[in-house]
Amino acid sequence: MLLNNWTINAIDKIERDFQRSADTHLIPLSSSPGSNINLYIKDESTHPTGSLKHRLARSLFLYALCNGQISEGTTITEASSGSTAVSEAYFARMLGLPFVAVMPRTTAKAKIDKIELYGGKCHFVDRSDEVYQEAKRLASECNGYYMDQFTYAERATDWRGNNNIAESIFIQMQAEEYPIPRWIVIGAGTGGTSATIGRYIRYQKLFTRLCVVDPENSIFTKYYKTGDKSLTLDSSSRIEGIGRPRVEPSFIREVIDRMIQVPDSASMAGIHYLYRQFGYKFGPSTGTAFYGALQLASEMRQNNESGSIVLIAGDHGERYLDTCYSETWIQENGFNVKDHLKYITNAFEALL
Ligand SMILES: *Cc1c(COP(=O)(O)O)cnc(C)c1O
Repeated sequence: MLLNNWTINAIDKIERDFQRSADTHLIPLSSSPGSNINLYIKDESTHPTGSLKHRLARSLFLYALCNGQISEGTTITEASSGSTAVSEAYFARMLGLPFVAVMPRTTAKAKIDKIELYGGKCHFVDRSDEVYQEAKRLASECNGYYMDQFTYAERATDWRGNNNIAESIFIQMQAEEYPIPRWIVIGAGTGGTSATIGRYIRYQKLFTRLCVVDPENSIFTKYYKTGDKSLTLDSSSRIEGIGRPRVEPSFIREVIDRMIQVPDSASMAGIHYLYRQFGYKFGPSTGTAFYGALQLASEMRQNNESGSIVLIAGDHGERYLDTCYSETWIQENGFNVKDHLKYITNAFEALL
């Protein structure tokens, strides 16, 4: 098919959005001179659509456009736990395309509101493992295109550079005391971000190791141990954005050096600690990564190692004010934040 004006325009619009955007901040949590272990947060909450899924949505749209999969009027559907759908709704509106998000009924209301604000439609299913089939069915019904982040995340992003998240982190670390991080820590939803970082580390031949943190109701840790792709889980992750009930095709096990499974209560305690101590309000998956990073820091300290650790904050806490940041909700859902807060406080203070 010949490249038409609509497609050229669409690619231009996405490129212009990129050109107008600033890079996300790298925030030091503990990097006082003379301290042996320095912790940094790569704050992905400041993208125009509030999460690291802004990068993914941009890549997926460009990938689909350059593969000739979408053209003027194509309805876009997506299976999502919310954040990707928010970012894709933003790009769909930019290109004037109808957008339908298929999400679990439990998706945060703030995300649903955002999708609708961008002109997208929300379609709900009861279980998080039903989203894939439903998004595919809706697309075929209207001759649309199922974006399928869980399949294409790992390949739509240019892992060798092109200002991807890995390159951005390493450039921002250049003037620090320990410029090459010992560890980079992130959770996995699609697995796309960890795939990009893991490949980039290998391509650049760096000694950095990649740790993926996993919440309670997720199959990734078991898959990491066994290599069995057919594993599934009946329950859904309570940490939005990370943890999946099936082994997602974009989760690349071979580039991950370590996995740590984190109790959901510890993830909640993690974001509460970051808020109380630093005033930063992040989504719960940042708590998961923070808790994992503290564990790695403790190990480094015990082994008399020095170096830096970078963890990724996937989204902003504003989306979770009536859930993770509500005392009532925390109690109603049986999260034991107190005990984990104690552990976190001790582990963090030991770093200083
Ligand atoms: C998607 C997501 C992640 C994980 O990113 P993937 O590249 O999909 O593995 C982490 N945190 C949040 C908030 C997310 O939405």
